[in-house]
Amino acid sequence: MHYIGVDVGGMSIKGGLVTKNGKIVARFTLPTNVYDKNYSISEDIRKVIEGTMQAGEVTIADIEGIGIGQPGAIDSVRGVIRYSNNIALENVPVVDELKKYFDVPIKINNDANCAALGEQVFGAGKGYNDVVFVTLGTGVGGGFIINGKLFEGRECAGAEPGHMVIVTDGEKCNCGRKGCWEAYASVSALIRQTKAAMETDPSSLMHEEAAKEGKVSGLTSFLAAKRGDKTAQKVVDTYIKYIGEGLVNLANIFRPDVILLGGAISKERERLTVPLQKMMDEQSFGAKFNPRVEVKIASLKNDAGILGAAALLLQ
Ligand SMILES: [Zn+2]
Repeated sequence: MHYIGVDVGGMSIKGGLVTKNGKIVARFTLPTNVYDKNYSISEDIRKVIEGTMQAGEVTIADIEGIGIGQPGAIDSVRGVIRYSNNIALENVPVVDELKKYFDVPIKINNDANCAALGEQVFGAGKGYNDVVFVTLGTGVGGGFIINGKLFEGRECAGAEPGHMVIVTDGEKCNCGRKGCWEAYASVSALIRQTKAAMETDPSSLMHEEAAKEGKVSGLTSFLAAKRGDKTAQKVVDTYIKYIGEGLVNLANIFRPDVILLGGAISKERERLTVPLQKMMDEQSFGAKFNPRVEVKIASLKNDAGILGAAALLLQ
């Protein structure tokens, strides 16, 4: 028996045929249609499910269940996309619409929740009971596995660690508040911090790195710091400190076994985990006496979405 995991993103809808051990044995992808006003996301998800089954040479009789990971506000109980910003969707009853075609259990959840679950079931969180997953990308998302189960809050509207304030009256956040963690620890925030530092230091190697890449990116400061640039190193150190402030807050609330980092910035691996582990070991509450909270890099990378969506059926 197999599961189907569908990972809906701003660019593409990816489907995978997943074994119960977390192996993806067939795939099918469609580009996400974000332009057509009469766009039916359920219809495209249906095509991806059909395509995935065809690619794996199976029929619906071989499928144990279908899981969908979707960005935005999701009602996982009723199977409804309440709201999605980047694909412009409102109140779409995806699960009911798909049930007309597929007579198997179908579940949907927020993409970050799926990634967290995927890591705990199949990835770097395997074997841990309490896992906090944080994704450092365009925004800062997260997911919480408590006692082996996904924690979602009332009607699945919780688990948004990116919107805890770490600086009162700080930088404006997309959510309307000021000083959210996301406004300091996301890739967009790092780019803003990099640009500001570049302006103060015209001789910084960050200018060279940005020219090579054709733009200031999340890599600019890291690359220049690697070459010994002091201004860049300061950008990196400050940025990591912002990440750490949020991580220690989360550790103090949940005291999980492990905190996993995913998203674009997690590619920096030890350059993140070494200083962040140090911060955790020194600053988490009662650090000397309480159990250690490990800081690790998530392991499923681009497949976290598909595997996590499939893992919804294993809950
Ligand atoms: Zn916010």
